[in-house]
Amino acid sequence: MGQYKLLIPPVHGERIILKNDQLQVPDQPIIPFIEGDGTGPDIWHASQRVFDSAVQIAFQGKKKIIWFEVFAGLKSIQKYGIETVLSDDTLAAISEFKVAIKGPLTTPVGGFPYVCLACSKEQGTEGEPRPKKCVNCGSEWVTPRFRSLNVALRQKLDLYACIRPVRWYKGVPSPVKHPELLDIVIFRENTEDVYAGIEFELGTPDAKQVYEFLTQKMGKKFREDSGIGIKPISVSGTQRLVRKAIQYALAHHRKTVTLVHKGNIQKFTEGAFRDWGYQLAVKEFRDKIVTEKELWDQFGGKLPDGKILINDRIADQMFQQLLLRPNEYEVVATPNLNGDYISDAAAAQVGGLGIAPGANIGDSAAVFEATHGTAPKYTGQDRVNPGSVILSGVMMLEHLGWQPAADLIVQALEKTIAQKRVTYDFERQMEGAKILKTSEFASAIIENMQS
Ligand code: NAP
Repeated sequence: MGQYKLLIPPVHGERIILKNDQLQVPDQPIIPFIEGDGTGPDIWHASQRVFDSAVQIAFQGKKKIIWFEVFAGLKSIQKYGIETVLSDDTLAAISEFKVAIKGPLTTPVGGFPYVCLACSKEQGTEGEPRPKKCVNCGSEWVTPRFRSLNVALRQKLDLYACIRPVRWYKGVPSPVKHPELLDIVIFRENTEDVYAGIEFELGTPDAKQVYEFLTQKMGKKFREDSGIGIKPISVSGTQRLVRKAIQYALAHHRKTVTLVHKGNIQKFTEGAFRDWGYQLAVKEFRDKIVTEKELWDQFGGKLPDGKILINDRIADQMFQQLLLRPNEYEVVATPNLNGDYISDAAAAQVGGLGIAPGANIGDSAAVFEATHGTAPKYTGQDRVNPGSVILSGVMMLEHLGWQPAADLIVQALEKTIAQKRVTYDFERQMEGAKILKTSEFASAIIENMQS
């Protein structure tokens, strides 16, 4: 086992290992979890009970997850000190145990130098010392501003594919007439694009240097009073994502993989993503795929049996397509920023982020996570919907190959929603529903697993 500063891995249980790129999952795998900030603890405790019950019932006690708490956000600074929102221990544990799950974490967004991890309030003045107590909630957990922990986790562990399945669960209130027609899995590139963090603030010597280089040496024209961001998209980054999306489509009997890009405008980044995606598909999956051009040129528009269609759509068009022709899409592979927008828009179509799951997967580790934030105003109220973490856990169980437990949770969750026993966010959109607390919703799901 690895060397940790403060963490002590459980003595019972075994490590998941990777052999020939395949996960080898023991009956009692050790799985690290991060509870999360704000409403994270409420959601986590509810979700963990659901996972444990599902595994117990599905495998009659022959399998069991051995949970291992690791720290990020508020709990991390409580353990490791005010500057350590994400410790090396946590990264090492996720690398060692290969599969982890997390609740939401605070990410500062405004221009303030400090943020309270207890209530997410951003505060303080540049150059002034750290406030000893939060101006909003009075807690002592006010930490210096940091970049997104979620982004840091993805980049440090090279979790390059953000995977978001979006489908409708019976009974979930939705703003569209036929939410059941949407059933897609979005593969969003997670490590490059405008998220690579190559930005230059207006007024800095770096921004001036970049401006001078681009205007004087490269002959480009743009306003001098600009902030500057760089958007790198690589062949290797693109192709490993598209490979994962096609492998997923093959494994899950999906018929279409759509490359979504803005290549009509950004030719050498977004346009190249499309071209490199097609190239990879043809090179590595030739006997299993048909491109959209081949579909019309050679097959009269009818997809041959057993083949997957690889097509592409321009990003803005795709938003329209998902609303107007949702059932024509199954798996989407797209660069980072498009993926960010499309995932949330698609989630809204089937009832919102409260229930949308996600996973960040690389070649050597996977982290499953809630897609919503910490919903800080509900902290400690046992009120919010744990559906996003519960369904992220379903993805985790599928990743482990523990499908019976995953199926049990989905059936029980659907049944609970159909019984109109839901948390406040769904209740306010459903007629005649009963409001349950976070913990009660989990108990209702567990009850429905047994009946
Ligand atoms: P948020 O935490 O997602 O909450 C915004 C609103 O969405 C809530 O007020 C609530 O709406 C609804 N909501 C969110 N989660 C819910 C749940 N589980 N059940 C029911 N309703 C839910 O977004 P935010 O307030 O903009 O962000 C708060 C903090 O979270 C920020 O620091 C942000 O950066 C961070 N964040 C983290 C992640 C992550 O860790 N993956 C993702 C996004 C944001 P109502 O008020 O209508 O009830």
